Amino acid sequence: MKMKVIYTDNNATTQVDPAVLSEMLPYLEQYYGNPSSMHTFGGQVARKITEARAKTAALLGAKPEEILFTSCGTESDSTAIRAAIASNPDKRHIVTTRVEHPAVKNLCEQLAKGGYRITFVPVDRNGALDLDLLYKSLTNDTAIVSIMWANNETGVVFPIEEIAAEVRSRRIVFHTDAVQAVGKLPINLGKLDIDMLSLSGHKIHAPKGIGALYIRKGTKFAPFLIGGHQESGRRGGTENVASIIALGKACELAGANLHEENTRVKELRDRLENALLKKVHKAFVNGGTEKRLPNTTSIAFEYVEGEAILLMMNEFGICASSGSACTSGSLEPSHVLRAMGVPFTAAHGSIRFSLSIYNTQAEIDFIVEKLPPIIARLRELSPFWKSAVA
Ligand SMILES: *Cc1c(COP(=O)(O)O)cnc(C)c1O
Repeated sequence: MKMKVIYTDNNATTQVDPAVLSEMLPYLEQYYGNPSSMHTFGGQVARKITEARAKTAALLGAKPEEILFTSCGTESDSTAIRAAIASNPDKRHIVTTRVEHPAVKNLCEQLAKGGYRITFVPVDRNGALDLDLLYKSLTNDTAIVSIMWANNETGVVFPIEEIAAEVRSRRIVFHTDAVQAVGKLPINLGKLDIDMLSLSGHKIHAPKGIGALYIRKGTKFAPFLIGGHQESGRRGGTENVASIIALGKACELAGANLHEENTRVKELRDRLENALLKKVHKAFVNGGTEKRLPNTTSIAFEYVEGEAILLMMNEFGICASSGSACTSGSLEPSHVLRAMGVPFTAAHGSIRFSLSIYNTQAEIDFIVEKLPPIIARLRELSPFWKSAVA
């Protein structure tokens, strides 16, 4: 029996757009040549990569030669940070935030063990960065500042344009993990002081296993993967041809769909959020709602377990995420919600809904119908709830 799926977990991964799939399939079938080959059979593949690079650059307002294809967002983040510290070997300080994706957070924690000094800039209750502390932490020893553009859990958007300008004025390398921002916010790198920017294919309706790193012309760089001369010597390894072509198409579509993301998708998100807050007592939104991705809402339902909510929504085919990280069996609230100081009883019951252009109003109304009774049932069983309302 195939159950209908209501997919509102797009910050975790997205559906491959059918147009993306049909664009990439021939390059898994008949056009299997190596783009580095001298013959026409390989050369036609190289031309498609050139086209994909131009499309990826166009979405970002960058030049094609500033785009490096990687295997994922995580590789892009690692490449950026490692390139900055490798090309500034005398600098031993890195600035990032307390709410980064594990791709940046865990790398920085590992570098700390290797002797790097890391400043993890804190956020306030709304998830906003302490910019004063950020700017005060910058020194002559700072090799790179790496700050995400938009948070994957709350959707909170950081003032990256302003931060990049301030960091640039001190001649420090600035990288942003824009995996969640690309396709949801307009980005024009030609006008910004960003040195490196990471994106990931599977967050914008391309397949998993493809990403890109923007490297501003003139930025000092050192390859992460050493090997052949692919990617102008910036990343060895035969190109993931079909997925690169898919990413190019996905970037083209993301540009075309940017308006819909910020109108129809945003309205659906607001409809979901407002209806749930109205129907469910003791629920609130995690993070400031003013500067936020149009597709994301993280809602704390106090005194219930997020995992229990997810399991019961799953019975109806509703897919979302909780605000907990399942670490070795113990469910502790995510580092993002903890950094924001969300109370324990609320962080535990936090659910993230992340929409896409594939969602419909009927789906949203279905969630609004099914979820409030689930919360009510779980609260009946919750000893915390009983003592809280007593
Ligand atoms: C998903 C995500 C990543 C990692 O991208 P992968 O392609 O899955 O490696 C990095 N940063 C953010 C903000 C993300 O949401």
